Amino acid sequence: MLGVVCAGKGGLRSVRAKVVVDCSADGDVAHYAGVHTRQGRESDGLSQPQTLFFRVQNVDDQAVEDYIRAHPQDFRPFASIVAKATAEGRFPAPRRGIGLYKTMEPGVWRINTGRVLRRNGADALELSLAELEGREQTVALLDFFRNNLPGFEQVELRDTATQIGVRETRRIDGAYELTLQDLHSGRAFDDVVALCGYPLDIHDPTGSGGGTGGEGLDAANIYQIPYRVMLPRVHEGLLVSGRAVSATHEALSAIRVMPPCFALGQAAGVAAALSVGNRASPRHVDYADLRRELLAQGAYLG
Ligand SMILES: Cc1cc2nc3c(=O)[nH]c(=O)nc-3n(C[C@H](O)[C@H](O)[C@H](O)COP(=O)(O)OP(=O)(O)OC[C@H]3O[C@@H](n4cnc5c(N)ncnc54)[C@H](O)[C@@H]3O)c2cc1C
Repeated sequence: MLGVVCAGKGGLRSVRAKVVVDCSADGDVAHYAGVHTRQGRESDGLSQPQTLFFRVQNVDDQAVEDYIRAHPQDFRPFASIVAKATAEGRFPAPRRGIGLYKTMEPGVWRINTGRVLRRNGADALELSLAELEGREQTVALLDFFRNNLPGFEQVELRDTATQIGVRETRRIDGAYELTLQDLHSGRAFDDVVALCGYPLDIHDPTGSGGGTGGEGLDAANIYQIPYRVMLPRVHEGLLVSGRAVSATHEALSAIRVMPPCFALGQAAGVAAALSVGNRASPRHVDYADLRRELLAQGAYLG
């Protein structure tokens, strides 16, 4: 029987379906259905770090902007202050600068600076421990901001994200595994369902390095993602979209971001509908039909 078992206020409930689309980000449905998955980098299985986003208020916007303008050598905001504090063992997170995003509201900024290393976001206990660590880092970072960053002297916590952000967990073993070489060469696929232009973005699983603009091979300006990355290699009746698709750790670092996940989700939804309509497993959906419908919906496929 195809479908999923849900847990909620009403207890356990099974929902039958002709096709299931797993958009859990962690490939939960696929994993529990027995689909083979991989996790992390090839060398040691470690995934990208997790980050608890938070917002701060009472920031002196002008002082921050003046400081950033006066320090063009800082490749990220306040990088030189962070470097000195890190060398002295005073910076509370493995990060080389402050990820700082101004909001529409005066004095309110979003912060992407915490970094929780070596925690498996697909494991309930490890995820809980990561949440705790993310909150501890937030408190320590606020204290650091107040005492070290121009414009942040009176800063207060506005709120944190409801959950820690998990950059990477399971990737399915799919009918095709997207590779860094595919991205680098801008390889054309017969079953392209999404175009993407984001570079590699691997935050170091063990420390402060990484992110976009790293050295070595990078993705082409525009590259393609084929339908087959969403098809488990063996299981029928299941599509896996979002950041759990079939790709290497390196390739996933580029396609895990929101725009490609939107495009892949759209393609998965259209494919699921075609699959049900034609009484064919997602594996046997006619790509010409899928392409036609995606184009009719305004998708750009090159
Ligand atoms: C700190 C951080 C910063 C980032 N910055 C950017 C950025 O600047 N730009 C960008 O484009 N991308 C960014 N990303 C990446 C991007 O946000 C994610 O990779 C992307 O949202 C993944 O999309 P998705 O659809 O696969 O999963 P998600 O958007 O995570 O959606 C999965 C959904 O499934 C739900 N779910 C999970 N498991 C279950 C279950 N068992 N049962 C029911 N529901 C479940 C979840 O609650 C969630 O709502 C960032 C990620 C992180 C962690």
